[in-house]
Amino acid sequence: MTIDFRSLAKQNIRNLPIYQPGKPTEEVEREFGIFSSIKLASNENPLGASPTIISELQKALQNIHIYPDGECYEIKQALANFLAISPAKLTIGNGSENILELIVKAYLHDDNNAVISEYAFLTIPIILKSYGVVTKVVPALNWSHDIEGMIDAVNENTRVIFFVNPNNPTGTYLNDEKFRKILSAIPPKVLIVCDEAYAEYMTSDDYPKTQEYLSSHPNLIITRTFSKVYGLAGLRIGYAMSSPEIAEILNRTRLPFNVNSFAAKAACVALKDQWHVKESIRINQEGMQQITAELKKMNISFIPSVGNFVTIDVGDAEKIYQKLLQEGVIVRPLKAYNMHHHIRVTIGKPEQNQRFLQTLKKIL
Ligand SMILES: *Cc1c(COP(=O)(O)O)cnc(C)c1O
Repeated sequence: MTIDFRSLAKQNIRNLPIYQPGKPTEEVEREFGIFSSIKLASNENPLGASPTIISELQKALQNIHIYPDGECYEIKQALANFLAISPAKLTIGNGSENILELIVKAYLHDDNNAVISEYAFLTIPIILKSYGVVTKVVPALNWSHDIEGMIDAVNENTRVIFFVNPNNPTGTYLNDEKFRKILSAIPPKVLIVCDEAYAEYMTSDDYPKTQEYLSSHPNLIITRTFSKVYGLAGLRIGYAMSSPEIAEILNRTRLPFNVNSFAAKAACVALKDQWHVKESIRINQEGMQQITAELKKMNISFIPSVGNFVTIDVGDAEKIYQKLLQEGVIVRPLKAYNMHHHIRVTIGKPEQNQRFLQTLKKIL
């Protein structure tokens, strides 16, 4: 008798959609027999990480036989200083997606539901599905979260409401006025999670300083990452700020060595190099300008973005995505979001942006 081990898995796991990450350059080059492809598909920092990290990691190599610090003491201290927050309010994760999972794992009971927006960062609904959580997806409004709709969707069984600010893949953001509306409307027992993976790129004054609301709103959880502006996506480290009570639960939920020693060390060093952060933001602003100005000239519409990426209406997105791939330009199609006309392009270095624009022109 043969046993189908697929069918033995929980049903919600069996039916889980597979997250399609941006294709690695090596894969594209192998597939198409080409060289020098560029990846503008995963919102990685085109400048890489701070060069100050390399020598520190070489030192850390000496100790790879030692378990990492399960307490994450050093990075917590560094973050506490940098953010002017108590270490008791911090949770460190294996990427911020790890933190999002800890929240779901710890707080979503069988009869609870979660509220998210349409087009919200896909990892969140995937985590929710993997835990079998009933999820209310509120239709977006002009590609952005519909705040009124999301507030209305909350009922007595709602345990968590997710905001992605700015949102990936739409690049839209919620301002402080909207955020305060959320804070006053959501019942105090409902966790308000703000995924702020791109917070460092935000320059506008009306971007909510969510950290300032932590003491008045102990149901608030803010997640951030070292994967984007800090350029450490490959090492996997992110963090949450919350009330100490929630942090205590999340720290209990996390596995003891969820953060590896390289990631923790690199994050400490990266925090100190704020010049690199500034430079990354500057390159991003210039690149965004470069790409959107040209798109306007070409009469191609896009969703105005405050992130390090822009989502562009190219008509038949799958076709354009494939053609770009053949030319060695890797972007992200968004059919997993039900956005069949859009591709998402990460802002790169000037010459990468130029190559993307020229290739797109050629294809269209
Ligand atoms: C990239 C991204 C993350 C980061 O995930 P990590 O696990 O920290 O790499 C989280 N949220 C959003 C919206 C993102 O785009």
